[in-house]
Amino acid sequence: PTLSERDRAVIWHPFTQMQTAPLPISILRGEGAVLYDETGNEYIDAISSWWVNLHGHAHPYIAERVAQQLRTLEHVIFAGFTHKPAVELAERLLPILPGNQAKIFYSDNGSTAVEVALKMAFQYWHNIGQPRTRVIALEDAYHGDTFGAMAVGGRSAFTAPFVPFLFDVDYIPAPVPGREDEALAKLEALLDETVAAFIFEPLVQGAGGMVMYQPGVLDKLMQLARNAGALLIADEVMTGFGRTGRLFASHYLTEQPDLMCLSKGLTGGTMALGVTTCTNAIYEAFLSDDKFKTLFHGHSFTANPLACTAALASLDLTLSEETQANIQRIADRHERFSQVLQGYSTVKAIRQHGTILAFDLDAGGQTSYFNNIRDVVYNFLLDRGVLMRPLGNVLYMLPPYCITDEQLTYVYEQVEALLKTL
Ligand code: PMP
Repeated sequence: PTLSERDRAVIWHPFTQMQTAPLPISILRGEGAVLYDETGNEYIDAISSWWVNLHGHAHPYIAERVAQQLRTLEHVIFAGFTHKPAVELAERLLPILPGNQAKIFYSDNGSTAVEVALKMAFQYWHNIGQPRTRVIALEDAYHGDTFGAMAVGGRSAFTAPFVPFLFDVDYIPAPVPGREDEALAKLEALLDETVAAFIFEPLVQGAGGMVMYQPGVLDKLMQLARNAGALLIADEVMTGFGRTGRLFASHYLTEQPDLMCLSKGLTGGTMALGVTTCTNAIYEAFLSDDKFKTLFHGHSFTANPLACTAALASLDLTLSEETQANIQRIADRHERFSQVLQGYSTVKAIRQHGTILAFDLDAGGQTSYFNNIRDVVYNFLLDRGVLMRPLGNVLYMLPPYCITDEQLTYVYEQVEALLKTL
């Protein structure tokens, strides 16, 4: 049997259990923006896998650093102990983060980075003796699939079985062009002294369909929430580390978050790591001789030294002149390709922030996940050696920064070839 057949016998994958789902493609290795499968096919990874591989696959610099760390210290309990990669990473992250983020809390992935931020927010109010219990989030948000993260995500058919177990959240529309005033009015109406936090994906709502909005209106929403005392949680799990053109999407803002969530590109897509950051004001509410004021949250693999080392290596690459130039190059090319896309009648709502380019396919009202158009698009591009995984009828690109001009041209050409068939 092939690897794919052996997989089907023993593995339960996320999101792919449709009876009709084809066997998973077995990837043997990756290099730069390209993945190589068991049968000799190549795929340009135009979405950085699950939006994580900033520097492409199997980057030799990250590999070497992690290998060295593996031979030195692979893991150690992070209660009562610390180690160099964790300290160095925190020291390097804090000065480049927006606002006055003062402390780094390590966890394992994006969902737990969000989970931790929510726990910090709720417990902050508890610890200072003014309990606040409500959260406001954006419609169609995605913050992960643990229970807290699901609770603050937009409700969908996927979360339906869990709704009875999720805490109540109030939603406002994402402030996309044309809905700014509605979002502002709704937030204003919802805010009072019971709101613990306002959580949002700054500028781009990823899994909700690469929904994009402008910094000015987010600043206004943040001001309103702050005036009501609510803590501001910026989920930069997807937008962090250059995706929107600047290092963090929050760098486009005047207002700054109290808590930030990072993951995905944090390690350049090599190791699972999550980070929640907070201001001193929040941290200090947990400093007490009352042991029940401590944050009850710690994973076995928190601050894993290999993952922290991978993040340090990825950060070196991200901050390099070469990568910064690549981010600009991809953004410029996306902008030019947007003009081309405007020539297709099936392409609607073209939107771009930096290296993220998205548009809606107007395919006769078929807008749900797992619909025909999604499969047609996915398979058409895969057959031509391009990995893009549409979100319903939303097609998007989010390539690794190392993608070459030739590879990017090839991806654009295949998207145009697809559009010509629709
Ligand atoms: N927040 C955002 C904005 C995300 O895009 C995601 C993942 N798509 C998550 C949180 C959850 O991250 P993870 O899948 O690593 O748990």
